Amino acid sequence: MLSSPVRRAPCDRIGFALARRRPRAFAIDREAADGELAPSMLKAGIVGLPNVGKSTLFNALTRSRKAEAANYPFCTINPNVGVVTVPDDRLEVLRKITKTHVAIPAAIEFVDIAGLVAGASKGEGLGNQFLGTIREVDAIVHVVRCFVDPDVIHPMGSVGPVRDIEVVATELILSDLEAVLKRIDKTQKKAKSGDKEAVAEIALLERLAPHLDANRPANILSVNDEEAKLLRLFQLLSAKPVIYACNVAEGDLATAEQNPFVQVVAEFVRAHHDAAYVPIGARIEAELIDLAPDEAKAYLKDLGVEDSGVSSLIRATYGLLGLLTFFTSNENEVRAWTIRNGWKAPQAAGVIHTDFERGFIKAEVVSYADLARLGSLAAAREAGKYRLEGREYAMRDGDVAHFRFSTA
Ligand code: GDP
Repeated sequence: MLSSPVRRAPCDRIGFALARRRPRAFAIDREAADGELAPSMLKAGIVGLPNVGKSTLFNALTRSRKAEAANYPFCTINPNVGVVTVPDDRLEVLRKITKTHVAIPAAIEFVDIAGLVAGASKGEGLGNQFLGTIREVDAIVHVVRCFVDPDVIHPMGSVGPVRDIEVVATELILSDLEAVLKRIDKTQKKAKSGDKEAVAEIALLERLAPHLDANRPANILSVNDEEAKLLRLFQLLSAKPVIYACNVAEGDLATAEQNPFVQVVAEFVRAHHDAAYVPIGARIEAELIDLAPDEAKAYLKDLGVEDSGVSSLIRATYGLLGLLTFFTSNENEVRAWTIRNGWKAPQAAGVIHTDFERGFIKAEVVSYADLARLGSLAAAREAGKYRLEGREYAMRDGDVAHFRFSTA
């Protein structure tokens, strides 16, 4: 049987069922898993020293975007976990073209991991518990204090972004070093018996141990593709991609790039592969929660900015992880879906439903740019921009896709 999510009844039923249960939104690292990982939404953990603005940012993020995240109610059970939708102007354009009322953005789960203090890797300040939570996230949003305020105590006595970054990073690295040494112990015997995989593991672990011991995070170790896969398997904390959220005073937001605290973070980031930085105004974002959208815009305009940096932070999280968005659109809804760069059409279909991947036949694809320019699917078809792609097609950011699959 040939079927597709828009026109055929079986898929409509699937779509209906999907709307009522947790969508199979995202599986971040399928290829790294021994078996298939349970699909889950992309997770970012907010870390940093105490009093840098983590909770302010978390509350602002999750409260201000609560309405938009209403389609993801399953994630709001835990008070430290919030769902944040990914801002994407293309959805509104597609919604108008499709003439539907419902637009569902992609979403990221943010976890507030509380303050890490020096000694966390040795259990200080509930350290191990926090480190365990970090192990479960796909990316780390490291909030760095870049505002001076004598009324807000700084645990280190003064504002010093790179020093603060290093305090937190050191705890992650120490925890990793312990894990690596344990793994060497465990794997050595197997490697000596000639087990090929164990030999490869030991070779990497023995490069990692001195690297970590020199207080260098795992994400700056240069590795080939095979080693990168192994590294993911080790689930090291310092191997996770990091975004430094530079929390600046509201008066500094418009000129954040000239802020000396932000500049030293930028300098630091240049030395790291898997890192990025975004200036944010956590307190401003928190203050915007209670304003009407127009008032919020006017308030930001007075400060000389378009947004408080939080939207950029969400987008940067997305970019850093090498993620891209594709869309589905039909008369019921338009929806953004998250996949990894390089994923082929059947994998992308599988994000919507496993049946779509299993029975994949073809993907009907039109790029967002073409669709937006031409104004309708019919016009896109006429212009020859509506393509039929097979299983080897690598999805591109902005593809509007319609999957044909068989349930037989
Ligand atoms: P956490 O310990 O990192 O979670 O920090 P909080 O979010 O609880 O913030 C600690 C204190 O810093 C609170 O009193 C916040 O109001 C204040 N704070 C957060 N962001 C800013 C900011 O951008 N500027 C100023 N002046 N204070 C801030």
